[in-house]
Amino acid sequence: MAGHQAAAEITAQQIGKVFGRFTALEDISLTIGRGEFLTLLGPSGSGKTTFLMILAGFEPATSGKLLLDGRDITDMPPEQRAFGMVFQGYALFPHMSVADNIAFPLKVQGRSAAQIRARVDEMVQMVGLTGHADKRPSGLSGGQQQRVALARALAYEPPVLLLDEPFSALDKNLRGQMQEEMRRIHRQTGTTFVFVTHDQEEALALSTRIAIFEKGKLQQLAPPREVYEQPANRFVAEFLGDINILPVAGRDGGAVMIEGERLGVPGGAGENLAIRPEHMHLSTEKTAGANGLPAVVQDFTYLGAETRVALQTAGGNGLILTRPTDELPTTLRPGAQVWVCWPQDRGFLL
Ligand code: ATP
Repeated sequence: MAGHQAAAEITAQQIGKVFGRFTALEDISLTIGRGEFLTLLGPSGSGKTTFLMILAGFEPATSGKLLLDGRDITDMPPEQRAFGMVFQGYALFPHMSVADNIAFPLKVQGRSAAQIRARVDEMVQMVGLTGHADKRPSGLSGGQQQRVALARALAYEPPVLLLDEPFSALDKNLRGQMQEEMRRIHRQTGTTFVFVTHDQEEALALSTRIAIFEKGKLQQLAPPREVYEQPANRFVAEFLGDINILPVAGRDGGAVMIEGERLGVPGGAGENLAIRPEHMHLSTEKTAGANGLPAVVQDFTYLGAETRVALQTAGGNGLILTRPTDELPTTLRPGAQVWVCWPQDRGFLL
């Protein structure tokens, strides 16, 4: 497939959007690189869909500019942008076969019958629907319908593919499968993908970079590992997963004082020490060279491969820790006195 040449770069310059007196987006500036898989992640109402609609051209921005490969497209109508789109609810043509659905945009473009046939075959195969080309959408499962929508959107090699929560209606297993497919299709086509979700795990699994939105503002734009391990602020830290937050009582050189213990930190400033649950472990004594706080086990939650342990420190802070289930001593019970330890470079100040 010759998709790689088609991928485009999009730049948003200080995009703002106001609905009446409500500010939905404020000063959004970012560049989506050619062939990138950029995810817009944020809670409900944070402005993700509004931003995607502005990219698509369905919603005008109140302020700011939009560039496609350096060209100003702020006022260009959606049909001229010709971005591929996969939105919630599929919107396949119910009276057309899978093949005709996929062929539709190619017919609109006036491609020859032979070209269309070859391209439809290629797309059907790419999205794993070989043998289903003659069926109507109603004869397909939700996941299969979503694949048709994806094939139709990619058929004419759009410079950008916009996806708004395309898997939200699918069950967990199917969702996982579709995520893998999506990564493969992204690699295979090389198209620029802009993907909206409110699912943190989905964003971490799929993206080259994640743009985190809250209340219409861009909070951080960075690769998955960076937003998870070096969140820009407390909102990002808490939105991306469970995190333990311990208020800092004082400073002692390069260390912080919490509950009377001197704890090493990798640097930075902030009033709270933050540590992810999976970066902590349990010990009967303080691990040499690591940070540790004495605590009492409160509760266990078995999650299969992992077990979540709730604890309370001597100073009254609640902590959550996750460990591989097989690693936890089966003799451990609520009420046990333990040390919660973590490597100094795994905590960060917020
Ligand atoms: P969700 O995950 O729930 O779809 P979102 O992050 O995509 O949320 P948007 O749909 O972009 O959020 O909405 C952002 C805010 O703008 C919301 O508070 C919404 O009510 C408001 N909004 C969106 N469209 C309009 C509109 N046409 N008129 C007025 N307010 C709007």
